[in-house]
Amino acid sequence: MVHELQIRVLPNIAASTATIKDYVAKEKGFDARTIKEVRVLKRSIDARQRTIFVNLSLRVFVNEMPDDMPFHKTDYPDVSNGQRAVVVGEGPAGLFAALKLIELGIRPIVVERGKDVRNRKTDLARITKTHKVETDSNYCFGEGGAGAYSDGKLYTRSKKRGNVEKILNVFCQHGASENILSDAHPHIGTDKLPRVIENMRNTIIGCGGEVHHQTRMTSLIINGDTVEGIETVDTETGLEKSFRGPVILATGHSARDVYQYLHSSNVDMEAKGIAVGVRLEHPSKLIDQIQYHNKEGRGKYLPAAEYSFVTQVDGRGVYSFCMCPGGFVIPAATGPEQIVVNGMSPSNRNGQWSNSGMVVELRPEDIDGDPVMKMLEWQKRVERDCWMQGNMRQTAPAQRMCDFVNGKLSYDLPKTSYAPGLISSPLHFWLPSHVSHQLREGFKDFGRKSRGFLTNEAVVIAVETRTSSPIRILRDTERLMHVRLHGLFPCGEGAGYAGGIVSAGVDGERCAEMCAEYLVSRR
Ligand SMILES: Cc1cc2nc3c(=O)[nH]c(=O)nc-3n(C[C@H](O)[C@H](O)[C@H](O)COP(=O)(O)OP(=O)(O)OC[C@H]3O[C@@H](n4cnc5c(N)ncnc54)[C@H](O)[C@@H]3O)c2cc1C
Repeated sequence: MVHELQIRVLPNIAASTATIKDYVAKEKGFDARTIKEVRVLKRSIDARQRTIFVNLSLRVFVNEMPDDMPFHKTDYPDVSNGQRAVVVGEGPAGLFAALKLIELGIRPIVVERGKDVRNRKTDLARITKTHKVETDSNYCFGEGGAGAYSDGKLYTRSKKRGNVEKILNVFCQHGASENILSDAHPHIGTDKLPRVIENMRNTIIGCGGEVHHQTRMTSLIINGDTVEGIETVDTETGLEKSFRGPVILATGHSARDVYQYLHSSNVDMEAKGIAVGVRLEHPSKLIDQIQYHNKEGRGKYLPAAEYSFVTQVDGRGVYSFCMCPGGFVIPAATGPEQIVVNGMSPSNRNGQWSNSGMVVELRPEDIDGDPVMKMLEWQKRVERDCWMQGNMRQTAPAQRMCDFVNGKLSYDLPKTSYAPGLISSPLHFWLPSHVSHQLREGFKDFGRKSRGFLTNEAVVIAVETRTSSPIRILRDTERLMHVRLHGLFPCGEGAGYAGGIVSAGVDGERCAEMCAEYLVSRR
């Protein structure tokens, strides 16, 4: 018999299925020998009170074995002889678009400017050693996209649970832990993501699709009002090659050359609001002490603590973004003369520091300039200012948190996870004044809400600018095709329709469906 149960237990009980099984047997009166399997369907931590509880939804199999897998498996047919569609960009949007095309019998040709997910690592390490950023291989560009070396957080504000669950199930099918299906705040971790991404690529190739790394799209092939393919260049050999088919354009928020090309080709786009600010890094023990109300920290059974803050200052949102408990701050620039910071963490989140983006909302009406490019131009200016402040290296300008709030230069800086190093700098002085003012007020508010959070043990690191795309490529809301160009499907975060790994994956799948309909309509 199968029983569905809700239990609320201490963290040591929730720590493993064996301890949960013992608890269920004892508390619910089952003979432990008759329990064949316990599945955790949902897991969340309730840290509102001094005693921390874990809420669990369980499926308990008594005297019978489950007859299904813990995740739903998608069938991917052989598409070697299918119609072709081109997918530009192998981030989450591109990967999920390609897999969905296969499901629908279409042969995806994936083109990615960066290296495969393993070889990318060498270029990432070189950023720290030499302070040199490769323009085609960095924390944003390369197989797996911007999500490959991240925290791999998989939560989204998307309301369409079915679509979100499909994405999580596909990740499980390709090697992610099944815990992502039950955790309230699932994440994969930067150490586990590369293997999952490789497996997804192998599915694409195994089914007859193609994946071309180190192949940068340089232009679209446009015939009248129809996109018929792309022109590319091999970033190693310089050889040019074209690929034919309708195009799913999933090049991410940092492909500034792509935006520039589209703008100069009069492809309809508009400036889009972004969020801009800094990375804030605390010792992880301090965050654990605050969030778990315990001076001993998180103890043996709880994960590194998370936080989430939001407030309004001058009618604009100020909020924490992309929190990485037990993680690292990383250099996420995509070219020379830029400093951009972001965060990532390993699956066990056991690092000494916890960081998050602390950002303020910036709307197109706040900035003057070209109606399409103004937000991007603004981003570029701030990133260049930051690089100048960082001694024209990847050394990031930084300030202790209270010093930032009090407008004081920091005499020294605390230890940090940011490997290229920090340099003390008066961020309160040179960051755009509305950004630094709103951040300061936001930090004061967060300090009031959470005692101990506003502290000089924390360091504010500049600058976090790549929170989302500064441009939206205009598309039809139903057919997801560009408003003017047939056969072009602007997709994912770079097109302005996603903000994270899961939503990019969901958008990738939707664009693939519409691309398949388009191909059918042209038969
Ligand atoms: C360090 C870091 C940590 C993050 N952590 C998280 C997290 O924990 N959870 C979360 O949900 N989100 C996180 N994000 C954001 C998330 O990674 C993005 O929202 C997501 O990757 C967007 O997916 P995408 O496929 O639309 O674009 P991208 O992932 O940006 O992929 C675009 C791809 O297109 C390629 N490309 C660009 N131009 C061209 C061209 N001309 N020709 C060929 N290929 C091209 C790029 O190389 C890239 O691989 C993080 C981002 C970063 C940088």
